Amino acid sequence: MAYSNIAYEIDGAVARLSHDRPALRNAESQELLDELDDAVRRATADPAVRVLVFDGKGEHFSAGHDLKQGAEKRSGFSVEQRWAYEELYYLEYALRIWDCPKPTIASVQGACIAGGFMVANMCDLIVAADDAFFSDPVCHTLGAAAVEVLIHPWVMGARKAKEMLFMGGRMTADDAYRIGMVNKVVPRASLEAETMAMARHIGKAEPFALKLVKRSINRTLDAQGLRTALHAHFDTHQLSHVSEAFKAARDRGLANAIKKAKE
Ligand code: ZN
Repeated sequence: MAYSNIAYEIDGAVARLSHDRPALRNAESQELLDELDDAVRRATADPAVRVLVFDGKGEHFSAGHDLKQGAEKRSGFSVEQRWAYEELYYLEYALRIWDCPKPTIASVQGACIAGGFMVANMCDLIVAADDAFFSDPVCHTLGAAAVEVLIHPWVMGARKAKEMLFMGGRMTADDAYRIGMVNKVVPRASLEAETMAMARHIGKAEPFALKLVKRSINRTLDAQGLRTALHAHFDTHQLSHVSEAFKAARDRGLANAIKKAKE
């Protein structure tokens, strides 16, 4: 697959998968998500790649799903069509990152919102620039029950997850670090260098050992119910898509929602 919405670069043992629609705040269109998933499979299959870095070109990591494209292409979807679309594009693609047998690092600057928040939090580690902020505002903006993959309580604890979703506001990089959602906060100017240094260091460890230890930690979370909870929320999220509140938000026009999300 040729990429026009992401960049795929190999640097030694590190593959960099970059959202590359900077003029659109790296909004995740259908095409971008297809390309990102293809790149995840490619890096996973490449024996020379030991670590995957997910980042974004330009000022932001990603402002989330491409709502404009969604309004144009999918606003008339039936329950069945939306379910199938979101199961593949959001749930399966996200879990492919989570289940990648190689270590993954998200390198985040600027906006990391909703769908972008979901992708970043599928990674094993997050390095954030001091200007990064995290948000899932869709309870407020769209009348939707969070994004499709409710990773929030697993990466920030239930209380902070509720605050983020109830309030719809922004969490700063420093706050994300303090609650353990982010591994490291670095100056914006050194984000790339710091992330790559971390990735190269991880890449020195035995790949098989890394694969096994990642499996064990992910299985620990599975034993606590992570996968069951994520699938249960996916169903719940679909229910919110057929609520009167969601339909009203859709009818008001998603442009309004986008404007609200930017505020
Ligand atoms: Zn959805």
